[in-house]
Amino acid sequence: MAATATHCPYCALQCGMNLAPKDGLLTVLPRPDFPTNKGGLCQKGWTSADLLTHPDRLTTPLVRDERGGRLRPATWDEALARVADAFQQAQTRHGKDAAGVFGGGGLTNEKAYLLGKFARVALGTSAIDYNGRFCMSSAAAAGMKAFGVDRGLPFPLEDIPLADTILLLGGNPSETMPPIMQYFEAQKKRGGRLIVADPRNTPTVQTATLHLQLLPGTDAALANGLLHVALADNLIDEAFIAARTTGWEAVKRTVGAYWPDRVERITGVPVADIKAAAHLMGASGTAMILSGRGPEQQSRGVDNSLAFINLALALGKAGKPGCGWGTMTGQGNGQGGREHGQKADQLPGYRKIDDPAARAHVANVWGMNPDDLPGPGKSAYEMLDALGTDGGVRALLVMGSNLVISAPRAAHVEDRLKSLDFLVVADIFVSETAELADVVLPTAQWAEEGGTMTNLEGRVLLRKQAQEPPPGVRTDAEILVALAERLDRGRYFPTSEPEAIFDELRRASAGGVADYGGITYKRIAAENGVFWPCPDETHPGTPRLFHERFGHPDGRAKFHAVPFRPVAEEPDDDFPLYLTTGRVINHYQSGTQTRRVKSLRDAQPEAFVEIHPTLARHFALAEGEMVHVTTRRGTAHARARLTTTIRPDTLFIPFHFAGPGRANLLTNPALDPVSRMPEFKVCAARLEKSPAPAGA
Ligand code: SF4
Repeated sequence: MAATATHCPYCALQCGMNLAPKDGLLTVLPRPDFPTNKGGLCQKGWTSADLLTHPDRLTTPLVRDERGGRLRPATWDEALARVADAFQQAQTRHGKDAAGVFGGGGLTNEKAYLLGKFARVALGTSAIDYNGRFCMSSAAAAGMKAFGVDRGLPFPLEDIPLADTILLLGGNPSETMPPIMQYFEAQKKRGGRLIVADPRNTPTVQTATLHLQLLPGTDAALANGLLHVALADNLIDEAFIAARTTGWEAVKRTVGAYWPDRVERITGVPVADIKAAAHLMGASGTAMILSGRGPEQQSRGVDNSLAFINLALALGKAGKPGCGWGTMTGQGNGQGGREHGQKADQLPGYRKIDDPAARAHVANVWGMNPDDLPGPGKSAYEMLDALGTDGGVRALLVMGSNLVISAPRAAHVEDRLKSLDFLVVADIFVSETAELADVVLPTAQWAEEGGTMTNLEGRVLLRKQAQEPPPGVRTDAEILVALAERLDRGRYFPTSEPEAIFDELRRASAGGVADYGGITYKRIAAENGVFWPCPDETHPGTPRLFHERFGHPDGRAKFHAVPFRPVAEEPDDDFPLYLTTGRVINHYQSGTQTRRVKSLRDAQPEAFVEIHPTLARHFALAEGEMVHVTTRRGTAHARARLTTTIRPDTLFIPFHFAGPGRANLLTNPALDPVSRMPEFKVCAARLEKSPAPAGA
């Protein structure tokens, strides 16, 4: 049998790979002809097929007869009947919004679309959001405000080597998406420079020309300081500002107060480095700003992103070849997931759910009255915080998300999940969230079903099915269609076949910002992906946005004056350190998948706390000793890892792990006022030496 050309199940680089049958199993082989990763994969991609035959794999629905009881195998009939009954009971007793849906940034476009439609049409609820809210919603909101369009990168990866200087913010692609580094290496070979702003001296920083080791949460001050220097030293592109932007004067006034020595006091970045970075960016013919989660996962995440967009615009480094501001999406389909209706405030095609014209268009495609579509719901954390309360969700479907690990203030979220009248989880394993469920539904994995994904460039890709799911397992789409039938809304859900769902999605997105109207499975396969917007089948797709005009009606980009404001929780006498969280090379998101791959687990089996040796000496700590890290949300226990790559005033814990080292026991759910992004990246913490807890 021939190999199937498909894509990795994990991050937003969505590397091309071949899956070839060998001795009855599927093996990952390189796909050198695929233009983004050019055959390269990281260890997560190489080992991804291990999960297809994993012994923990769920192959039958599970139900729990009573709270505190055990999950037991059940038929699909019994399990689906329990789910439909629970939704109906919750809605009869407490109203439509008592049924809720929580999706995932790894779901295909078809599943994200169908889940959004299921919530609005089958359940008639406004209560839907997804874990992509926790990923890049701040960058998305900033992109919309500044450019009128949110697409992770408004240019293809092949433009990265064209930048003379790249400023990378709070991202560590050497570990999170290693194959992308070939573009940075090509840029370096051309004589290009890389500046990295990050509180940690990561492997990516070690490839950089200049490291700005800023204090966590001071990103906007750094951006304003860089712009102050650019202004003072005549590096501004006045012609570009006049021709292509609005709002510059207010920004100019704001950054006037960010003189370099003040910015050094706020950020900890030396004046000389601030000046050097501003000159490298400003004096370059081409320059690019790439954002990771560092500046975005904060309660000022939108402001942070806007402050750096201001810098790109003022230097005239946007909307031109080799230039631009872009965000490197993290989750596999974080981009497509929010374009097609999983977000509480959005309908397919990146339409706003409170826009009457958008509602009319989508309702027409769905064959219903627009007045019957619910309005905007609560954002992810706000929905989770209200679970089980008056006015909150009482019966919840979780699809493709492991909230017990990934939500901020995780112990509280776990309590809220336990307070639900009913929880159903669709997953491939009994995740930590599924362990709390009343019903668990076994779903197909990526290689067992077809579908499209939209990568970090806005390129829509085809994941082809390589084999059938195991007996007893259904696809998420089949589950949603079956549930809709039981809720007496089956007539609105005629198919669970991915290509037919995609054809409906194309119609629903047509005319929207993220217009997929002209994208077909056939074209994606023939053209190695198609970039949106692509309004009709003769349109070539749009790899580069903004070269002629930005997305606002006047065609101009908008500056936004953003004074620096401190993070929600600064260190004090009780909690004197900063805590930041992030990823490691071996694991992906909540680790539900990668913690089950032996080679990845062996390489990184547990959580750890990065501590600078100077700080460790203060606590008489040695490498590998157990420590408590405490914040106002709770305490985590993990092994100390002493390293000079972290600032002496900052701790770092990776967020992939369950048990006592769960990083999100500690994180702060303070929300950005616009994006509703929690402050994952910075909070105040206390460090103590500890004995290992029982069972750790
Ligand atoms: Fe998969 Fe991302 Fe690794 Fe590529 S970089 S192989 S998409 S996890």
